[in-house]
Amino acid sequence: MTFRRFVATLLEVERASSRIAMVKMLAEAFRELPPEEVPLAVMLLQGRVAPEFEGLEFGVAEKEAAKALALALGRDEFEVLQAVKARGDIGAYAREALPEQGGGLTVKQVYDELRAIAEDSGKGSQLRKRERLARLLAAASPEEAAVILRTVTGRLRLGVGDATVLEALALAFLGDRGKKPLLERAYNLTSDLAYVARLVLEGEEALRRVKLEVGKPVRMMLAERLPDPERIMEKLGPHYAEHKYDGERVQVHFDGERFWVYSRRLENITHQYPDLLEALREVQREPFIVEAEAVVVDPLTGEMRPFQNVLNRKVKHLTPELLEKYPVKGFVFEILFQAGEALIDRPYSERRERLERWFRPHERLELSSKRFIETTEELVRFFDASIEAGCEGLVCKKPDGEYEAGKRGFKWVKYKRGIAGKLSDTLDLVIVGAWLGRGRRAGSYGSLLAAVYNPDEDRFETLTKVGSGFSDEDLNEVLPRRLEPYRREARHPRVWSLLAPDVWFEPALVVEVEAQEITLSPNHTCAFGVVQEGRGLALRFPRFVRYRDDKSPEEATTTREVVEMYRNQWA
Ligand code: AMP
Repeated sequence: MTFRRFVATLLEVERASSRIAMVKMLAEAFRELPPEEVPLAVMLLQGRVAPEFEGLEFGVAEKEAAKALALALGRDEFEVLQAVKARGDIGAYAREALPEQGGGLTVKQVYDELRAIAEDSGKGSQLRKRERLARLLAAASPEEAAVILRTVTGRLRLGVGDATVLEALALAFLGDRGKKPLLERAYNLTSDLAYVARLVLEGEEALRRVKLEVGKPVRMMLAERLPDPERIMEKLGPHYAEHKYDGERVQVHFDGERFWVYSRRLENITHQYPDLLEALREVQREPFIVEAEAVVVDPLTGEMRPFQNVLNRKVKHLTPELLEKYPVKGFVFEILFQAGEALIDRPYSERRERLERWFRPHERLELSSKRFIETTEELVRFFDASIEAGCEGLVCKKPDGEYEAGKRGFKWVKYKRGIAGKLSDTLDLVIVGAWLGRGRRAGSYGSLLAAVYNPDEDRFETLTKVGSGFSDEDLNEVLPRRLEPYRREARHPRVWSLLAPDVWFEPALVVEVEAQEITLSPNHTCAFGVVQEGRGLALRFPRFVRYRDDKSPEEATTTREVVEMYRNQWA
């Protein structure tokens, strides 16, 4: 089969009426190709020359592609650029502009040229890419050129999913679409469709033997959701629950020398976490694959910051300033490979044991917090503790569950509050205490204890700690100066608190605070026992907004208002 025939298949597939029809067309095309070209065709189907996790991109903008086309046509660059713009699609324009020609290209020839284009980089590469592309276009038929141009500009969207390709491969080479699970398993372990194609050609045995490999991302296991703790207990029975950290999931591979970090979508994001990798390099020498949640922590207080913070690392050039402003900590929760052994088929309890033995402490690394849960009551308590710690809830894990690569199932169940986003209102809170800072905040306050006013009891009930949102000036000068007059040896009698800060204040200073959500908390006294026995209300991700000198402490937000806000946040 020539590249021309392959392109004809692609166009048919694009117009196919059903998924089954797609599978059949693809299987037929695969069978007609010389075996060594099958993996290449699989990659071209995805509009790529390497699996996505390798991060090999063409680096050809539409304008550059148009210039290459002009070169191939022997026409003026500007004229072609205008025409492409007018037509709106470079592929469509090429189909009209190129003469009936070509047809002798093989899949391998096209793949090799495209790969060379993608791999060329550095000085002068733009011109070399353009010239290479022009030569390829000059040898291509109009239909072939259209597909080539759509490929290099990242616009080949055939809508052929991974599952369809796997099914077509099963049908083509194992004679049975029903054998797809065998291919799926290989794919889940390696995330590489072309590699799976190579294995299929070797036969079923090769597929069965496939193991995960350090460097190739394992498709991640995902959690199912259940709405309440009762149903989680019913489904899992006694199990392990872990804090659900709210950061970016990372799968870290180490081969003894080199690191790879993959995102949940299996993009290579190694460059985003140099500090995390440095930490791992300091404490680990042997190859491993682990998973962690990378969470930005406040450099001064060590408190976890919400997920959005980690997005600040998604830039091309991470500067030392950004790294310092958004330091991360890795909360490690899974181990997939260690001591030369793939662990994914082992039960969770065994993997966790291995993880705990493997783990070496470091200030940038922590094991996910875990607890064995036997009753609903314990589950709820651990959930509250996780929210209190700045987490999103829990991931409950079945002790005998293996790591199901690429699957979402009930071996992991997430237990999360059903709402997200910010509270629509800010709150005015009274400062009643403080903890001393450490690190850069040494000599100043690290976080403040803030309270609401309960007019019925005429007392101040604590609602939150707040440490975020203050400027350096606030911390070093303004707050110490303003709070000093109110400092006391012991708790003010009108303050009701279960926490014991380093310093107490007379309720006087009012500040405005924003937060993401109001949650139940065993540690704060606001509306204690009102919504639930043994629990008060607390803020999640509180942040200082400004001073409210215009308000007296008795004009602060009241307990009753917070209860209202708690109830309305799901409305
Ligand atoms: P969700 O993204 O809501 O489907 O929840 C599952 C996600 O929770 C995973 O993909 C991880 O990124 C994240 N996560 C946080 N902490 C843990 C943990 N201890 N175990 C497993 N997943 C976790």
